[in-house]
Amino acid sequence: MLIQRAEVAGRRCDVRIAGGIISAIAPHLPPEAGETSLDAQGGALIPGLHDHHIHLDATAAALCSLRCGPPEVTSRDALALALAAAPGAGWLRGVGFHDSIGRVDRAWLDAHGPDRPVRIQHRGGRMWLLNSRAIAEIGAGVPTDGRLIDGDALVAARLGRIPPDLAALGGRLAALGITGVTEVTPRNEAEDFARYAGAGMAQRLLVMGRPGLDAQPPLGRARRGAVKLHYHDHDLPDLDTLAAEVARAHDVGRPVAAHCVTRAELFVTLAAIETAGVHPGDRIEHASIAPDEAVDWIARLGVTVVTQPHFLGQRAAAYRAEVDAADRPLLYRLQAWRDAGVRLAAGSDAPFGGMDPWAAMAAAVDRPAGFGAGEALTPEAALALFLGDPDDPGGPARQVAMGAVADLCLLDRGWEAARADLGAVGVRATLAAG
Ligand SMILES: [Zn+2]
Repeated sequence: MLIQRAEVAGRRCDVRIAGGIISAIAPHLPPEAGETSLDAQGGALIPGLHDHHIHLDATAAALCSLRCGPPEVTSRDALALALAAAPGAGWLRGVGFHDSIGRVDRAWLDAHGPDRPVRIQHRGGRMWLLNSRAIAEIGAGVPTDGRLIDGDALVAARLGRIPPDLAALGGRLAALGITGVTEVTPRNEAEDFARYAGAGMAQRLLVMGRPGLDAQPPLGRARRGAVKLHYHDHDLPDLDTLAAEVARAHDVGRPVAAHCVTRAELFVTLAAIETAGVHPGDRIEHASIAPDEAVDWIARLGVTVVTQPHFLGQRAAAYRAEVDAADRPLLYRLQAWRDAGVRLAAGSDAPFGGMDPWAAMAAAVDRPAGFGAGEALTPEAALALFLGDPDDPGGPARQVAMGAVADLCLLDRGWEAARADLGAVGVRATLAAG
């Protein structure tokens, strides 16, 4: 395949792809007999984007679920209208609920929702809101107010799993220029790995998960990733236990990726990693709130941060209501990590965040007022959040270069135009391994 008149690193080039590899880059390459060609019309050709933090099954499920939270739904009246207008019969699955809408429980859903089983997932991912018909189908184990916390296993056991359409999700990701993802669900086991690898997604997959993946060999474009540590303030293990868990992962050659959205989660995790010793690839997911001491500590340890710049854009109103003004500049920091020399990358955290990396980049460039104006990134630094190698997110950006795997993303405009408004960028073509 020949891509003609592309812009590669600021220069007009033709790019040839053969056997899934970039085989030639030159100002002008004559087409070979029978070769497919694509006229880039001066659009920037960049390495395919890698989403360093996504939950594949939940995102695939969310694609066929009703949005029940901000920005689409911001009040209980709007929620009632959305539920009533939802097509279909039988189970209605909602996602993205947030408390800023108002209190929603079984009684409210029975009074204001449709006469069909309804379950709505809270944006945080841990709570389901259920009406009486849903509770009747699921059976014992749901609190009487219909607010079920950490009940995914119960729901799955009673209702069975709906097989997620991962191939459709892969198509949606490709349309955004994404040629690779890191799947971060903590409970992933070998059977999940095999399912992701065999789902027909074109993307390169790095799959985190449990010790059950320790001996997992690569399968197609899928490889085993870090051990995911997923604790919350209320169930944080003590330091020695957590340090032992980190050390066990390192002993089998795996880095850890630790979910840290509070100060306590972050500081205990850093202490555990320091106690166990750092392994290349150890990473903090989210680092949602990071005082300067935490930035310095992470820099000293050499641990990577994988953040979500778009959360500030999507959730600014809620953070203004819930987070002290003094803490707001410490949320989802960006430039502070770079200034401290920390390797910084981004992931969507879809379905809990939007899956569009261009919206995330735009949010990294335009921080909402009151959230640390000095944290904003340049468009180039924002793009680089998605260009690191899956095993070294935030490390050197992958390049469009001879001999590289042809994971490529062709933009609908040149980089000068793209950088002026990243949120408006369209992707003309995405190539996964050619
Ligand atoms: Zn996540």
